[in-house]
Amino acid sequence: MGFKEITSISLAWPFVSFYWAKKKADRFWSEKCMNWELPGDVESVEALEILPLIDWYADDEDLATEPGVSYLIKTEESTVLFDVGYNMKREHPSPLLRNMSKLGISFDQIDTIIISHPHADHVGGDLNQLKRQFSPSKGHVDLSEKKIFLPPGMSHPDFNTMQVQRPIKIARGIISTGPIYSSQFILGNTLFPMGITPEQALVVDIKGHGVVIIVGCGHQGLERILKLVDHLFDKPVYGIVGGLHYPVTGSRMTAFGGRLEVQKYFGTGKLPWIPITKQEVLNHISMLRKYRPKLVSLSAHDSCDWSIDAFREAFGPDYKDLKVGRSIRIPET
Ligand SMILES: [Zn+2]
Ligand SMILES: [Zn+2]
Repeated sequence: MGFKEITSISLAWPFVSFYWAKKKADRFWSEKCMNWELPGDVESVEALEILPLIDWYADDEDLATEPGVSYLIKTEESTVLFDVGYNMKREHPSPLLRNMSKLGISFDQIDTIIISHPHADHVGGDLNQLKRQFSPSKGHVDLSEKKIFLPPGMSHPDFNTMQVQRPIKIARGIISTGPIYSSQFILGNTLFPMGITPEQALVVDIKGHGVVIIVGCGHQGLERILKLVDHLFDKPVYGIVGGLHYPVTGSRMTAFGGRLEVQKYFGTGKLPWIPITKQEVLNHISMLRKYRPKLVSLSAHDSCDWSIDAFREAFGPDYKDLKVGRSIRIPET
């Protein structure tokens, strides 16, 4: 093979891998996800509290913020940690651990850990992303007593974990949707393992209210998330909380000294030069409005302020700001 051939293969590779992953993701969606059923009686809970421990905005300036996600999900029966933040500077204690201690939360109170998808801002850093692992801090945190649910392809060297391949009951009234795959044109390691990204969301069934969907980055796309929840549950969608990836006018994550707006061009499920438009965000808002949700709370870790304002305006009093340290409760009192 000559220099010319090698060059053209190298240039073509990201596109081949992007479209290959897209085909695979679409096939998984139509052949698997759309045939899934709920695993028996998932039951329901009386109340739900979502306390953001890591996100882009905070309620109090003493709390650390990052373009990452970690939420504490509490019902009357269980306490689940959903994602473990970014820990961008590889610190110990990490921003997550520091916020937990400021908010009076310890790992002893947490019985279950669930990771939405294998991206740095959800698994505790880029080294964890590379190794397909997760870690709440740079130093050791004992998770030996926890139930740990990971997306396909992820594991942990020290603790027993379970890879979620389909919808499963995490605890009473708390269900994982199972992984929805998407094709991501992402720089770095994920480009070469074909950029195919599995992401699971949580659904909490609250008695007398309906279901609340909790999302990490939202690479699955709002349309597929809602379709899968509709398909699995015969219940109204009471709310949706978390990241949906609408970095239209700016990106929280940047590279090359701020010159590359990472989220605007990567992780969108599209080719980098076809960014998400304002019209697409407005179309998604219309799609969601049809469900008449009583709770909408968009994470700013992967959405710009323009998108957040558009959601706030569209959902009025049903929109809740998502801030570290500020609990979202259902029922409200
Ligand atoms: Zn994210
Ligand atoms: Zn992501």
